Amino acid sequence: MDLQQNKFSEEYFDLIFDRFNAVLTGIGKKLPAVSYVAITSNDPYCVLISTLLSLRTKDDVTLKASERLLKRASTAHDMLGLSEKEIEELIFPVGFYHTKAQRILEISHILVEKYNGIVPDNVENLIALPGVGIKTANLTLNLGYGIDAICVDCHVHQISNRMGWVTTKTPPETEKALQSVMPRRFWIPLNELLVSYGQEICTSVSPKCSMCPMCAECPKIGVDKSR
Ligand code: SF4
Repeated sequence: MDLQQNKFSEEYFDLIFDRFNAVLTGIGKKLPAVSYVAITSNDPYCVLISTLLSLRTKDDVTLKASERLLKRASTAHDMLGLSEKEIEELIFPVGFYHTKAQRILEISHILVEKYNGIVPDNVENLIALPGVGIKTANLTLNLGYGIDAICVDCHVHQISNRMGWVTTKTPPETEKALQSVMPRRFWIPLNELLVSYGQEICTSVSPKCSMCPMCAECPKIGVDKSR
């Protein structure tokens, strides 16, 4: 793909996300499990289920359980084809796996009956689902539907400018500028990705460009010294 020609396309950001994620995975820096599920599935139902599994559970356990379960059933309709026992076995050893298996079936049933299998995209209807609190609802909205602003911290601001996505002086300016160039589905995961990447590779002082898979294409705007 010609990155300059396709700049700001979905494919362009997919490629950058894939490359950055590959580097972070290679050095053992992992995204939170639910974020990973959100990025790989781009599906609110998968995000909701993974968020439920993540409660009181370590991240690596959540990710493996999510992958096992969602491989078997990635929609509410498909989930209803599994028994409670099967779900328990697939998600074990997440915390409260027995209760969670029950909740997953109850939720899937309601989604199919009431919402045609679609996860609601508002807090009110989400928190009305059994076992779904405000935290789960918000994370599902954020990661599942992209309902939020782009969260710009110093890393997002700096890397976006270095990569030439925006030409801005402050994080609020960057937020507005990114909203106009970046497809909405990247808004939420962008923060987690660039925070991790900024901590490990594209560091504020002397970024590790020699380790960066975008080294050849990145204009490195404002970078005086790199490693
Ligand atoms: S090439 Fe260097 S400046 Fe550009 S994104 Fe990679 S680490 Fe950052």
